[in-house]
Amino acid sequence: MELSRREFLKFGGGGMGALVLLKGTGSFGGRGSAAKSLPLKKQIGEKTTICPYDGSGCGFLVAAENGKVVNIEGDPEHPVNRGSACAKGASMRQLSADNPWRLSKVLYRSPGGSDWEEKSWDWALDSIARKIKDTRDANFIETNSDGNLVNRTEAIGNFGGSALDNEECYLLAKLNRAIGVVYLEHHARI
Ligand code: SF4
Repeated sequence: MELSRREFLKFGGGGMGALVLLKGTGSFGGRGSAAKSLPLKKQIGEKTTICPYDGSGCGFLVAAENGKVVNIEGDPEHPVNRGSACAKGASMRQLSADNPWRLSKVLYRSPGGSDWEEKSWDWALDSIARKIKDTRDANFIETNSDGNLVNRTEAIGNFGGSALDNEECYLLAKLNRAIGVVYLEHHARI
């Protein structure tokens, strides 16, 4: 079919009008429509939470039965994500305590070793504290090349995991700055 320029514009304008009409009636599948069609969270008792994986702060609904998480999905009423979830956020259920694959004990593999040994939390915390103290003491810089007081160590870096919440990040940042760590980052900023 051949269209003149005038007919093409008329045809295209009609198509656009139909699209706008569909969107206006809620038949158009988009993020905005989810907020209107799924206002169920209060009725089935789901709790709201925020995805811990990055700085976007998407909202999620968590449903639990008998103390176990049975479903997690994007919150259609949340202004950031309007019900959507990226692959990472959609897999948030793996963080729940009833995930059988989630590690709940300390496993240690010695340098050069091939096997994992089970250790206690006390052993792990003492070992980490010892290594941090020894590394800091052996590499502490009091003044820089201009003679300015800096009190820092450049031998330790701290990279916060995405499951840390705001309060945990705040405490970690305080601790790291107190001992002179300057290489401090968090996954959510990357
Ligand atoms: S990881 Fe995905 S779902 Fe989670 S806050 Fe970031 S964009 Fe949103």
